[in-house]
Amino acid sequence: MPSPVAHAAAGVATYLAVVDRAPLPWTTRATFLGACVFLAVFPDLDFLPGLIVGVPNQFHQGPSHSLLVVALVWLAVLALLSVRRRTWLRGLSRQTVLLGTAVAAFSHPFLDYFSIGNGIPLFWPVDSSTYASPWPLFLNVTRDNVPGTAFFLSLFSLHNLLALSRELLFSVALLTLVAGLRQYQQPAWAWVLSGLVLIMVLVLVEPGWTTAAF
Ligand SMILES: [Zn+2]
Repeated sequence: MPSPVAHAAAGVATYLAVVDRAPLPWTTRATFLGACVFLAVFPDLDFLPGLIVGVPNQFHQGPSHSLLVVALVWLAVLALLSVRRRTWLRGLSRQTVLLGTAVAAFSHPFLDYFSIGNGIPLFWPVDSSTYASPWPLFLNVTRDNVPGTAFFLSLFSLHNLLALSRELLFSVALLTLVAGLRQYQQPAWAWVLSGLVLIMVLVLVEPGWTTAAF
């Protein structure tokens, strides 16, 4: 799975891609950006119960990564935002909020699906099997399933440094792409084409050899 770096970058990229160019109150920008980043990252909060019971990986990549739970949390955030839409999201259209929050929320299972690892239970509770793409774009983050500081120390490895570098590269490329397309007001086909090129570059820089080496 990608680390929170790539997930948070997907949330920021979504915000940049859909937010209106017109001047908006800072409270609107902060609330919408916060909602996009939260929705892009929240499935990985399933680390917390494992950390509490001392087995960090126990609940990770479980039901919080399913399409059902992602959809339910997305709807809950939408409901929360709509209660105070006129104050918290003043100046943003309903469509922008709907589109931005949806893309941010579903970016998480999408990115985790395209990473090396055990896969995610996309169709839980109907089907508890885990799914992973045969063409991964991201390296997995390795960590020991041990309690306390030993867990955090196990994150500092050469393999994870490579995984993080790859994610940072992806994040910078994605954010630059989105900001550039917005700046020059490119049509929809340019967005699709640029996205495909970015994915192709990631596929071509095959991550498999790094997992074999480390
Ligand atoms: Zn995840």
